Amino acid sequence: MQNEKILCPFHNDRNPSMKIDSRFHCFACGADGDVIDFVSRYFEISKTEAVKRIASEFGIVPEKEFAVITGTKCKPNLREQKNVYMQYLISLEKEMDRWLEKYKPKPGDEELHFLFATALDKKEYIGYLTDALAECVTENDISEFFKTNGGVIT
Ligand SMILES: [Zn+2]
Repeated sequence: MQNEKILCPFHNDRNPSMKIDSRFHCFACGADGDVIDFVSRYFEISKTEAVKRIASEFGIVPEKEFAVITGTKCKPNLREQKNVYMQYLISLEKEMDRWLEKYKPKPGDEELHFLFATALDKKEYIGYLTDALAECVTENDISEFFKTNGGVIT
């Protein structure tokens, strides 16, 4: 059941004190947030890294595209990086639509499915990133975008 508690990974928890629905909340240490916060905090990575990790766990974006996004394999120019990241956001959004369809509440469900709630939540964030990136015209804008959204460019 969704309202059962789990052991909190953010403090030395002996009795399950973390509740998970569309967000997580620990009644003992106060840890709180959405799935992106959870992954980011759990693996000690940035929010952008967390989104990428979630995407890669679900096989949404191939590893080599991440290399292009992060510039680890080669040094693509900013416009290329913008295009790749835009493609990535679009594929992520499609995946969220798939979750919204697959896990949508059925008659009689008392709570939203975790992945449905996650998709609702993340779609908004992805939509925000897509809009923000679409407005970046100059290389300077694009560079600022990546800096603001998790330092994707190293
Ligand atoms: Zn805790």
